[in-house]
Amino acid sequence: MVYDDNNIFARILRGEIPCKKAYEDDFALAFHDIRPAAPVHVLVIPKGPYVSLEDLCANASPAFVGGFFKAVAATARQLGVLESGYRILANNGADAHQEVMHFHVHIFAGRPLGPMLKSPG
Ligand code: 5GP
Repeated sequence: MVYDDNNIFARILRGEIPCKKAYEDDFALAFHDIRPAAPVHVLVIPKGPYVSLEDLCANASPAFVGGFFKAVAATARQLGVLESGYRILANNGADAHQEVMHFHVHIFAGRPLGPMLKSPG
């Protein structure tokens, strides 16, 4: 899939749409989800035009991929959820119901999160 420069997260990265920032470094921007599914629900997005995990890992340098995942960990640290625990999740493609075609990692925390999937497959 070709990256669309006008997807909502690209526009947030360019500062065209506001966000409630949780963390930022050279590799990633993290901000609170507009429709939180948990008391803490933050999205971490790479600062580059990657649609999916496959796109990121095939086309970004190992240093960038590493920097991005370190930023996910730094965001969780910044949110103060290391002790209580948290869940990370990344939807990729149609079956996962990926809505925004800019790769992102969700961080959920702030209450016991229950089983991993809503219903058995
Ligand atoms: P996906 O289903 O693609 O993994 O998740 C996309 C997430 O982006 C959803 O949880 C949705 O609430 C969030 N989202 C969509 N548009 C915006 C926006 O404009 N601002 C913020 N902060 N979150 C958004």
